[in-house]
Amino acid sequence: MRKFGAILCGLMFAAVSGGLAPSQAQTGGGETSFRALYKELVETNTTLSAGDCTVAAQRMAARLKAAGYADSELTVFTVPDHPKEGGLVAVLPGKDPKAKALLLLAHVDVVEAKREDWTRDPFTLVEENGFFYARGSSDDKAMAAIFTDSMIRLRAEPRMKRTVKLALTCGEETTGVFNGAEYLSQNRRELIDAGFALNEGGGGRLDPAGKPLALAMQTAEKTAENYTLEARNPGGHSSMPRPDNAIYELSGALAKIQAYRFPIHLNPTTKAFFSEQGKISPPSLGQAMTAIAQDPENKLAQTVLSRDPLLNSTLRTTCVATLLEGGHAENALPQRARANINCRIVPGETIEGTRDKLAEVIGDAAISVTAKPQRGPIGKAAPLDPAVFEPARKLAAEMYPGLPIIPIMSTGATDSIYLSAAGIPSYGVPGVLYEYDGGGIHGLNEHIRVSSVMKGREYLYRLIKLYAAA
Ligand SMILES: [Zn+2]
Repeated sequence: MRKFGAILCGLMFAAVSGGLAPSQAQTGGGETSFRALYKELVETNTTLSAGDCTVAAQRMAARLKAAGYADSELTVFTVPDHPKEGGLVAVLPGKDPKAKALLLLAHVDVVEAKREDWTRDPFTLVEENGFFYARGSSDDKAMAAIFTDSMIRLRAEPRMKRTVKLALTCGEETTGVFNGAEYLSQNRRELIDAGFALNEGGGGRLDPAGKPLALAMQTAEKTAENYTLEARNPGGHSSMPRPDNAIYELSGALAKIQAYRFPIHLNPTTKAFFSEQGKISPPSLGQAMTAIAQDPENKLAQTVLSRDPLLNSTLRTTCVATLLEGGHAENALPQRARANINCRIVPGETIEGTRDKLAEVIGDAAISVTAKPQRGPIGKAAPLDPAVFEPARKLAAEMYPGLPIIPIMSTGATDSIYLSAAGIPSYGVPGVLYEYDGGGIHGLNEHIRVSSVMKGREYLYRLIKLYAAA
């Protein structure tokens, strides 16, 4: 999950090279080779400050090549201005050229991590007490490794009906640098063309004791947008204050935004989320969820659910002040005061409409409300397509008996926005169960259960095969 990246053009195809060809044991498709691949990927530093995504892409390409992929099926791409933010596209051709391909997307870049802040070295994969520890062990190298490993295993299988494509990209975790998914969607659309895509954002959740709670299929995400509120004033000497004051006016506007709640706006994903989640949640919340799914205007349900930050953010667009600046000297009346408002807009609402609503709520023409330049497309929700959900549910019933697959709308953002905006419906795929508290994702001592990774590997491999054969 992240904010937005910028795009640059120009492209170089690098022949598949770099590093030693992995041995048979390491590419055999078994757990040993998976662990070796996962370790190599995690221990390849891919932070923006000190890492190299292109090296990670080359190393994964070398493993695919050793598993039998031809050079023509492997594309390591970079752009001239960002040689260290490259990625890989691998293609396993299917038998039926008319059948739409399946795309597997995972980002290989990770959030920064400082050795001195961590208990262990963040760039060494450590296995301890049933957990893997390292930066990216969860977000998103577990899935990147599982997808790459799946491509290796599929290579040894009889040809599937559909073509299966893998895109390993950089830039998901950073803003205003280079985003590989955005680049491919806008410049190499044909390379990743597919009927639908599987990405991060779904997974599933364990309870604090590690007991599986539910699996999640992400089908929608909110659009993040920033707005600048600004109050201006002629200023003057602070020894003679006047009633009009830029900081006070801005504070008044902020208080109004703080008190305002956008109207409830459910979509097919969030309706399904509340109806499914309602069945497995404690009665106090469960009843309200079921009620809101049936009638979004149910006032009591609205009140109960709005008390929970995550559920409130699932119900509606949210806007919150995140940055503030004002004044220019201690002894001068402020001439300007500004605030940044970060909004998360539900599918079906617009950036302009949200701007207008903020201005209406403030109701003070002296406060300007400006949308910051948009840094990415508006994501489109993926349909709750039975052809996607049913195979996932069937396999879950076998591998995770009793665990429902719940459609979710992410309040954060993934690279799915680029795919969906380019016409490739993108699903945050279930299968890997994450810690109740997020397991240090983007934070300290990121970790994930070994059992979650291994069972997720089996689930995703089998699910990919089901989709590729359908
Ligand atoms: Zn991520």
